[in-house]
Amino acid sequence: MLRVEQLHKSFDDFKAVKGAQLMVDRGQLVAVIGPNGAGKTTLFNLITGQLQPDDGRILFNEQDISKLPPHEICRKGIARSFQIANIFPRLSVFRNVQVSILSQQKLSDKLFHPASQIAVKQTNRILDSVGLLDKKMDIAGSLSHGDKRTLEIAIALGNEPDLLILDEPTAGMSPEETTATMALIKRLADEQGLTILFCEHDMNVVFGVAQSIMVMQQGRTIVQGQPEKVRQNSEVQKAYLRGE
Ligand code: ADP
Ligand code: MG
Repeated sequence: MLRVEQLHKSFDDFKAVKGAQLMVDRGQLVAVIGPNGAGKTTLFNLITGQLQPDDGRILFNEQDISKLPPHEICRKGIARSFQIANIFPRLSVFRNVQVSILSQQKLSDKLFHPASQIAVKQTNRILDSVGLLDKKMDIAGSLSHGDKRTLEIAIALGNEPDLLILDEPTAGMSPEETTATMALIKRLADEQGLTILFCEHDMNVVFGVAQSIMVMQQGRTIVQGQPEKVRQNSEVQKAYLRGE
């Protein structure tokens, strides 16, 4: 579904991404791991069009998307969340998700009609799938950090993506919230057959969840494969032993 080939991106003369490679098959749950500064967010920004690569290709469903702007990439079926939560803090949880569904359907002008009854079922269904249905009338800004991040996933689901990309969905979370979030991601992948790509800096979080793991270090891809293969890779062992 997604193939990243030899991707490069520099900021002035600093090479943040230098030869990243990634494969995501339809229906897979894929993790990118690497220490802070490895280039994970930059890689995701390149895939979703927030940044343009200097070199290399990004193929989504066999089409080269590496020069497209974010809204066109979104329209092709890639939705993402950001490392820092991106919600409308003054709107209700329900409205946050409804806005995303309506904007995807180009109906957002109807949204502020007093009792917008559009996409109510779909909004409720998404909130139920992430476990936020009982908080749907809460003001988004009043949610706990963990629930805000979960709401962000729900907003991304409102775009009905083929590929869901999550940038450190567990950033800043307590161990309990992290466990719950990883369980949610696994459930979305298993039960809804979603294709999900996420990144994470803590190696222990992704084992047991991801079907395929890509390891990044200093902008490079060290290896991608099944968790066992990655765990046994000598370069990965060296990188993680050195880093800790
Ligand atoms: P990660 O998400 O793996 O922590 P990032 O992709 O955020 O890593 O960053 C990789 C490197 O690129 C870091 O050294 C970071 O400081 C640098 N970097 C990221 N974005 C920019 C930018 N807009 N300008 C300059 N340097 C950047
Ligand atoms: Mg990052």
